[in-house]
Amino acid sequence: MDASADSAACLRCGVCCFSRLETYVRVTGDDWLRLGADAERLARFVGHRAYMRMERGRCAALAVRESAERGREYFCTVYERRPQVCRDLARGSPECEAELALKKDRPG
Ligand code: SF4
Ligand code: SF4
Repeated sequence: MDASADSAACLRCGVCCFSRLETYVRVTGDDWLRLGADAERLARFVGHRAYMRMERGRCAALAVRESAERGREYFCTVYERRPQVCRDLARGSPECEAELALKKDRPG
């Protein structure tokens, strides 16, 4: 999940940061430590495992902004500290393509 990526394509997309699942983005112990002071606010435990909190159908760390020149942009507010699963989803990969195919009607 590269939604905040410095790449313009991901900024315009953000699709892989959307889901209605509460257990969508796994947060490992290392991920939790990397999130630091933001971990409690942005992640939570479901059973024995931690996940990013989901709000309004998208990851709580995702922010949406309107840019006069570029339109709507989606960016990760913890990009440098995002969970490993987000780091592993490369733009243009089969996983990215699958996200785009599955969620083209994401909430917004
Ligand atoms: S679905 Fe692909 S293009 Fe869209 S934000 Fe995620 S990695 Fe980037
Ligand atoms: S942590 Fe960032 S990159 Fe990962 S799903 Fe949330 S907003 Fe997207």
